[in-house]
Amino acid sequence: MIKKMTCISCPLGCQLEVEVNETIKVTGNKCKRGEEYAKNEVTNPKRVITSTVRVEGGDRPLVSVKTDKEVPKDKIFEIMKEINKIKALAPVNIGDIIIENVLGTGANIVATAKVMKG
Ligand code: SF4
Repeated sequence: MIKKMTCISCPLGCQLEVEVNETIKVTGNKCKRGEEYAKNEVTNPKRVITSTVRVEGGDRPLVSVKTDKEVPKDKIFEIMKEINKIKALAPVNIGDIIIENVLGTGANIVATAKVMKG
């Protein structure tokens, strides 16, 4: 089976061809990171999630957040549900942990912006 994908590890966006048999063979990559990316995509795809969380008592109603590490792609939907459930209390600072170890993934949901008390 041959899968085609675009490497998203740098802006060059190499077009990769990944041959999956007993072993995984990657071509089209201009560097080693492309091979790692393709192998992870085939075996255990992961992403950083970015979103927003509602804020109570702040000068703005929302704060932007992200996971502080990549999480399994098949958990994104469930994690988004957790993010949508929660409300942060103002003040919120950049780097504040809004959800610790979300769904046991080992990743925290952290604020990427500041919200003052409003
Ligand atoms: S294979 Fe290397 S050069 Fe190509 S997009 Fe990925 S990281 Fe960039």
